[in-house]
Amino acid sequence: MADRAPLHGTTPPAGDLSGKCALVTGSTSGIGLGIARALAGAGADVMLSGFGDPRAIETLRADMEDRAGVRVRHDPADLSVPAEIERLMADTAATLGPPDILVNNAGLQHVAPLDAFPPDTWDRIIAINRTAALRATRLALPAMRRRAWGRVVNVVSTHGLVASPGKSAYIAAKHGLAGLTKAAALEAAADGITANGICPGYVRTDLIERQIADLAAQRGEAAEAVAVDMLAEKHPSGRFVEIEQVAALALFLCSDAAASITGTLLPVDGGWTAR
Ligand code: NAD
Repeated sequence: MADRAPLHGTTPPAGDLSGKCALVTGSTSGIGLGIARALAGAGADVMLSGFGDPRAIETLRADMEDRAGVRVRHDPADLSVPAEIERLMADTAATLGPPDILVNNAGLQHVAPLDAFPPDTWDRIIAINRTAALRATRLALPAMRRRAWGRVVNVVSTHGLVASPGKSAYIAAKHGLAGLTKAAALEAAADGITANGICPGYVRTDLIERQIADLAAQRGEAAEAVAVDMLAEKHPSGRFVEIEQVAALALFLCSDAAASITGTLLPVDGGWTAR
């Protein structure tokens, strides 16, 4: 009997990214580390960025390289400093090649009422969560254009779509990052480059563990009771979002199957923004 094509189309692989170079900012922990692992697992060489204990970073870098069989490097650039971003982009190009994939993920949070928000902290949040993405994208686009292929994935937040009290700088930064995503998508759409934003709800990374711990201390409650309250207020699913769920979406956005998806802001939030 002659071979037959399957009746239902096979799902294309999540993406073979062999030969691609991915720069993931803020990838020494949390969501960025999860995305870096997913991209390396699909065959991309990866430049890690972010802070942490140098020995711990070296361990996770070497582990990623061994498991995935790709090249993985780390650069400790401080993304609040423009010259450091330029150096990071040059370092990436020199060691792994210009990034085909740029994941703007580095970020931080501070919770305080707007009228008591420390101005220096406001500036730092805007610089790292928003302006660094603008600077890195500007520097990454020319090489992507030359290759007629590129992926920009911005790790935005539900707070790039809606607001909550106490997080004014973060919300201003993330709404700006959402706008940058759309602007980059329009300018690069004809060049084989997509730009999309992922908008996670609560993910239990260091960033959220700090919020839970601070709230628990303020209220004199157990951390787990605070976590349950946070979910009840925001996540109809009643569950935290998993790092791997965000990473899987980032990986899909980097695949050829996602070539026509651009300029979107995709919630991964257990239903938060459906209310
Ligand atoms: P995280 O604290 O685990 O990771 C933050 C990363 O950014 C770390 O690698 C850190 O070293 C790096 N970083 C911080 N300041 C930097 C600087 N000046 N220069 C270079 N790197 C710097 O937190 P996370 O939750 O994984 O956050 C990653 C991104 O996801 C952030 O943009 C955050 O806003 C976003 N996000 C997180 C959640 C959540 O619930 N955790 C939800 C929505 C969006």
